[in-house]
Amino acid sequence: MKTIAAVTHEKGQLSIEEVELAPPKVSEVLVRNIACGVCHTDAAGLHQFIPVALPIILGHEGVGIVEAVGAGVESLKPGDRVILSYPSCGTCSYCIAGHPYACDHLNELFFSGTFKDGTKRFSQNGQEISSFFGQGSFSQYVVVDARNAVKVAIDSDDELAKLCSLGCGVQTGVGAVLNGLKAQAGSSLVVFGCGGVGMSAVMGAAIAGCSTIIAVDVNDERLMLAREFGATHTLNGKSVDVVKEIKKITNGGVNYSVESSGLSHLTLTAIECLARLGKACVVSVTGPETVALPIEMGLMNPSVTLMGLTEGGSNPQVMIPQLVEFYKAGKLPVDRLVKFYDLKDIETAFADSHSGVTIKPIIKF
Ligand SMILES: [Zn+2]
Ligand SMILES: [Zn+2]
Repeated sequence: MKTIAAVTHEKGQLSIEEVELAPPKVSEVLVRNIACGVCHTDAAGLHQFIPVALPIILGHEGVGIVEAVGAGVESLKPGDRVILSYPSCGTCSYCIAGHPYACDHLNELFFSGTFKDGTKRFSQNGQEISSFFGQGSFSQYVVVDARNAVKVAIDSDDELAKLCSLGCGVQTGVGAVLNGLKAQAGSSLVVFGCGGVGMSAVMGAAIAGCSTIIAVDVNDERLMLAREFGATHTLNGKSVDVVKEIKKITNGGVNYSVESSGLSHLTLTAIECLARLGKACVVSVTGPETVALPIEMGLMNPSVTLMGLTEGGSNPQVMIPQLVEFYKAGKLPVDRLVKFYDLKDIETAFADSHSGVTIKPIIKF
């Protein structure tokens, strides 16, 4: 069948074109996307910081309606509303143990552009086109594996369109707090970077019952918004000594920190501000940069933990329905982060995400 998509033929380029989409194979489903979020990982693919195979259709936060299912799909049927998430193989030991975010085939399934059988679904004039994250959701129609399509109890298309980032950014932020750090009620937590992931981590800390929630950013407007989502304290990293202020607020150091800014030197700050036995979790894409970590005085002596985590340690089929319930209960007001764009304005959506004008741009079909 034909579909309209934003195709990237060369680094940094997006053009709206008609492409061919193959029918779903045995474990796959055809989805008509209603909307797709723009995530910083899409920008990393677009600019080849992550060297994805071109040509490619980016987009990995699609939401839509199932239109057809492969012969082996039992979990979904035509008409189901779904939130699309990241792919995983389903057969490696990590997937079997319930940790698909640590799938042995993660890098190839996220970035190689192919499905788990090594083939592609999009093409144009006989040339194959890659699908980013096993989706390529900057396309009105996509074929995805049923493992990464999560059926959700949402009544309207308009409501569903606001929830694109549950499939990636929101589960990354909330999951870092609930699954990764396992933050305890009454504890203190700091979030570095108030983008979509960081704001979700603030909301996650509020859900966990943290009593002190500190948001750090360089944009005062975002810091004000973070307070509405549960931050008890905010710090502008441009104007204060962040470590000193965090230690003052928490009387010596914070129990947990989440690094979501993508600035690698802030990983050191996220460790430095911890109390003894504290835990720091890095969730963002930083590229190949390195930092020098004082092992003894930074890690060993204070008995702190530094962890990295993909997709918030979330199993989408379990986590996304939970996030939907938090949203319905008013505990996860992610609809307040979004702004809608037409597919033809996708370059503006990327620019607004980059400049920080919009926290979560969403392409609506
Ligand atoms: Zn796997
Ligand atoms: Zn993402």
